Amino acid sequence: MPSKKSVAPTPALTAEQFKTSVVKHLRTTLGTYEEKASKQAWNKALAAAINEFVFEGVSRTRKTHANVGARAVHYLSLEFLMGRLMSNNLQNLGLYSVAEEALKSLGLEIADVLEEEPDMALGNGGLGRLAACFIDSMATLSIPAVGYGIHYEHGLFRQEFHKGRQVERPDQWREFGNPWEICRPESAQVIKLYGYVETVYEQGKLSKVWHPGRTIRAIPWDIPVVGYGGQNVNVLRLWESRADKFFDWDVFNSGGYVDAYSESVEAETISKVLYPNDETDAGKELRLIQQYFFSAASIADVMRRYKAANGEDLANFAKLNAMQLNDTHPAIAIPELMRVLVDEENFAWDEAWAMTRETFSYTNHTLLPEALEKWSLKLIEKVLPRHMEIILEINSRFLTQEVETMWPGNNDIKRKLSIVEEGAEQMIRMGNLSVIGSHTVNGVAQIHSDLVKKDLFPEFDALWPNKFVNVTNGITPRRWMKACNPRLSALIEQHIDTDWPRYLEKLTGLKPLADDQAFQDSFMAVKHENKVDFVKEIKTLTGVDVSADAIFDVQIKRLHEYKRQHLNLLHIMALYRRVLIDPNYDMHPRVFIFGAKAAPGYKIAKEIIFAINKVAEKINNDRRINDKIKVVFLPNYRVSLAEKLIPAADVSEQISLAGKEASGTGNMKLALNGAITIGTMDGANIEIAEEAGSDNVVIFGMEVDDVVALKNKGYHPADYYRSNEELKAVLDWLEGDFFTPGEPGLLAEVKRNLVESDPFMVLPDFESYCEAHQKIDALYRDKKAWAKAAILNTASLAKFNSDRSIQDYAQNIWHVKGVEAKS
Ligand SMILES: *Cc1c(COP(=O)(O)O)cnc(C)c1O
Repeated sequence: MPSKKSVAPTPALTAEQFKTSVVKHLRTTLGTYEEKASKQAWNKALAAAINEFVFEGVSRTRKTHANVGARAVHYLSLEFLMGRLMSNNLQNLGLYSVAEEALKSLGLEIADVLEEEPDMALGNGGLGRLAACFIDSMATLSIPAVGYGIHYEHGLFRQEFHKGRQVERPDQWREFGNPWEICRPESAQVIKLYGYVETVYEQGKLSKVWHPGRTIRAIPWDIPVVGYGGQNVNVLRLWESRADKFFDWDVFNSGGYVDAYSESVEAETISKVLYPNDETDAGKELRLIQQYFFSAASIADVMRRYKAANGEDLANFAKLNAMQLNDTHPAIAIPELMRVLVDEENFAWDEAWAMTRETFSYTNHTLLPEALEKWSLKLIEKVLPRHMEIILEINSRFLTQEVETMWPGNNDIKRKLSIVEEGAEQMIRMGNLSVIGSHTVNGVAQIHSDLVKKDLFPEFDALWPNKFVNVTNGITPRRWMKACNPRLSALIEQHIDTDWPRYLEKLTGLKPLADDQAFQDSFMAVKHENKVDFVKEIKTLTGVDVSADAIFDVQIKRLHEYKRQHLNLLHIMALYRRVLIDPNYDMHPRVFIFGAKAAPGYKIAKEIIFAINKVAEKINNDRRINDKIKVVFLPNYRVSLAEKLIPAADVSEQISLAGKEASGTGNMKLALNGAITIGTMDGANIEIAEEAGSDNVVIFGMEVDDVVALKNKGYHPADYYRSNEELKAVLDWLEGDFFTPGEPGLLAEVKRNLVESDPFMVLPDFESYCEAHQKIDALYRDKKAWAKAAILNTASLAKFNSDRSIQDYAQNIWHVKGVEAKS
């Protein structure tokens, strides 16, 4: 158990002082005044007042870390799904109540002012949100760390529904500026692209010179990341692309005024937009350039900072710098560091390679083949000719030295482990490159890490038995409980120390209260109040009236076949059918709540969204079922919507096909806030069940071994369709015009997909899933039993604190320690 000393932040000033500061900023920074100011202006004035503490913290932390010479972590991620920063910053600085009171005295509700902030949605889903939780935890643990990514002009698209279909709209998060970022033009970098490589012989020594075809400037924007307690403030450094020379003056002067701009438009395209594909590889030239652009800028930045502190001798570079690759997206950083060391710093290959391997570690996030990145060799050769040479050199040395030593003469193994995949078109396997170039590779939940070793990289595991480890994902309890669920936080603090957001193990102090009637009543009263609040949100977003007395059954995550929103849909249809057949069908009223974006090009995912919306429309307007079932699909699922919904959730749907969800983090957020999981034995669900106790989660469906066995035996979805009467009936229902009056067949694609291929085995799990829902219904009606199970979930989730994940990385992978910033 950590020290008893409370780290709960204490406010540095009074509400009155803070009010003075906000008003001062309203007048001097925003150029308006109290009587005239919009909510937007108040929001910006509040941000400016907060930033007085934030930016001071940035300088304090930077000075401390520069002076101690400790190893620093560089977290490279193409995505950071930050959400809003204001409420989190207020909480972590201990200023929330002070700000609330200050605004109240100005006639403002803090919730309304917070609503003005757009989400910073520079990520697709779990992977990007994990990066955001991790930089929060690194700051909280005082680890010298920088998050590196791209300053996208447009984040993930805004989702609207038009007649039930998803429509994508551009995200304009910076339309009215972003108060949390500082531009650092003095730290700009120049990034090379295209061109050719020249081989130079000089004094008997061979060297390579890359003559780029063009250059791009990378401009850093720093976003402060306030650790809990406010003492340590790290930064997230996001790179924006700009034309290297804004004008080609010759073109400009010879009348080519407009042409002179075209180059800048092209250069600025690199950081223009986030690719909206989750768990699929885009394979496009611009995507490769994005990956290289931010990797190269980040390495140059790390190099510059190292030299500023340690001089030109790079001997300690790898000892002082760890770089974590969040998936293979930044894997091109491996040959880039080799290029810098060998071509620019004149290191011998072997020495450079040892330093590179000591620097990098890689997190694998998926086993799905469609998500494993491969780049055409020709494309890399065109965009990054020197890197292609380096990759081939890395590969050749690896195959002829390491693989040959272990498996002499075995060409099958060489073919399998090679970075180059042979075929009609030669492809570069970024996963293999990442494993070969890293000292440690981790999966993100125990079962996933086991499968990475067993199924994805078994030969690599045999070659390097200690390279593969597990670090189970986590979530920051500051955002996902303290800030988003103030009622539950307040209740908790009546019973345990106030520093639980830092030492989440303290939640175990609630376990003895799980059976206590008074605590159960308070706990469920909090849930009910949160639901009452969310009922209004549902009405605003969808126009549908729901009751807070119903079970709130929630599935929120990207829309993907492997996550099986359509399994949820089939069960909803089955329930609906049962109530139509028997109006007295005995069930507690249920509201099924969905939130999910589909990748714009993912057709079947968009059909599933459409199907859920059409079924919802029919059910919600069917008077025969007496409001027993409601279905709402909330548009534009994002972090800020998750923060409102999660505190109101009763049931957490985690129903991926076993073996497909690497970890999940939504499962952790919901369970921490007292929702009961209905889930498969997949990802972190398994560990949640272990922690919360198997009586307090509802597990169903095939396990990984069952899935493998069924696949080997030969899976025929039509057999399941034919042999279950209810399943057949609901699938057939999708074919007619029952849900799309006058337009038969609009939902037929969803049925066809399931009956004819069903790649994620929805049908075999249907029966078991329906039974699991019966258990949920029975448990909910036993109010005491439900309250106890919900409390035990909240009380048992300490393991899923992202601080614990980061401590695991720090100890087992990065070998770094926290360094507390001194005032
Ligand atoms: C947590 C989170 C996710 C990840 O959810 P999973 O259920 O783990 O897939 C995706 N999007 C948002 C906005 C989140 O907050």
